[in-house]
Amino acid sequence: MQELIDKQKALYHTGQTKPYEFRIAMLNKLKKLIKDNETSILDALKKDLNKSEYEAYTAEIGYLYAEINHIIKDLKHWMKPTKVAAPLTHKGSKGMIYKEAYGVTLVIAPWNYPFQLALSPVLGAIAGGNTVVLKPSELTPNTSHLLADLITKNFDRAYFSVVEGDKDVSQKLLDQRFDLIFFTGSVPVGKIVMEKASQHLTPVVLELGGKSPAIVDEDADLDLAAKRIIWGKCLNAGQTCIAPDYLYVHESVKDALLSKLVVSIKEMYGDQPLENEEYSHIVNERHFDRLVDYIHNGNVFHGGEHKRENLVIEPTILTDATWDDRVMQDEIFGPILPVFTFHTIEEVVEAVRSNEKPLALYYFTEDEDRQQHIIEALPFGGGAMNDTLMHITNPNLPFGGVGQSGVGSYHGKASFDAFTHEKSILKQTTKFDFAFRYPSSKTGLSVI
Ligand code: NAD
Repeated sequence: MQELIDKQKALYHTGQTKPYEFRIAMLNKLKKLIKDNETSILDALKKDLNKSEYEAYTAEIGYLYAEINHIIKDLKHWMKPTKVAAPLTHKGSKGMIYKEAYGVTLVIAPWNYPFQLALSPVLGAIAGGNTVVLKPSELTPNTSHLLADLITKNFDRAYFSVVEGDKDVSQKLLDQRFDLIFFTGSVPVGKIVMEKASQHLTPVVLELGGKSPAIVDEDADLDLAAKRIIWGKCLNAGQTCIAPDYLYVHESVKDALLSKLVVSIKEMYGDQPLENEEYSHIVNERHFDRLVDYIHNGNVFHGGEHKRENLVIEPTILTDATWDDRVMQDEIFGPILPVFTFHTIEEVVEAVRSNEKPLALYYFTEDEDRQQHIIEALPFGGGAMNDTLMHITNPNLPFGGVGQSGVGSYHGKASFDAFTHEKSILKQTTKFDFAFRYPSSKTGLSVI
């Protein structure tokens, strides 16, 4: 590892990774590599998570193309030094902000979108002019091996290298000295990453998780709310960091919404989701058993069936769980949706506030004043009004958490910013000098 990092550092110091042309060439190279290997990528994702071609294409491959195109389109503009205004006291000088690459960066990725979440931060690293070491998740070995194979064969390891392995490898990497660490994963491991980074005061971006609420108010369009909540909850079998974790529905529309949720499940996954080849599997037995235990934390309104040999769990709606149950203590990260009711929105505000700041929040109401109230009353990473997940797909919206759901953000320009140090430079004139700043000098303007 030390030898790899030394090599990357040496390359970074040659300046080769910094020119605009080099960054664009590397982004295009990565895009072509994905394009040429779409079949192998789809195959690896099918083996690791039983991802359907549709889900794998939209949420992993297509997502990366959109992000690469967006970065290529605007990178030149982002890289330009920006001039800032100078106060009167600074007359004669120019204030400039230069966009400097950090240097050698580390990206640690999770297993749930194992291709996209590995490469999406790497795009930021490349756009920023850095070198990068990527550690994919060991829980999705087919995707991890494929990434290692493709990157090793096509990129100079001194520029972009994949190191495969489990948490021990991850910790060894974290013991090295990087210039920036970008981590996507769970809250407990995020704390380990931050602690390790503190040894060298390495800056970190932490993209973490948590419990993201969906709220449906009395005036919401219930058909659309049901469809969009089930889509957001069941994509990748609920193994999505910004999936609606639990649902609060206004008491007066609870029954109507619950039946529409069931209709939406049937429309999207059929009467027998366990047999549906397009429905993602749970990543491993440990997570499967954890999720099945949650099903006993309330009354099953719909679903609840599961098959351990295929690691598949039906989309499940749970009523009558409490905040003391494990299903409400943990991030669910699976296709189980506990449902609670409320009479006034302040009950929901209080419940959400009494927990960690969520990564996402979704509020369904036609009333813009109510939307504004929730946006202002509750801290959360980001979210959507009358939708789920879609905020993550707009490259102009920075994506990240707040508090325990994350530190920093990325996507589009925010990815470039995350991997770029803003170096402030004052360019002073030598044509004249203000005397007043010097001790015991006369005040006034002295022209040299
Ligand atoms: P995880 O934290 O277990 O693992 C993430 C990475 O860290 C993996 O590469 C793993 O090898 C490594 N790792 C695991 N334990 C480690 C340790 N003790 N020390 C050092 N490295 C270690 O997370 P996961 O299970 O892969 O992913 C699920 C979590 O990630 C969920 O909480 C989810 O919400 C979150 N997530 C967040 C986002 C986001 O963008 N905010 C996206 C996807 C997933």
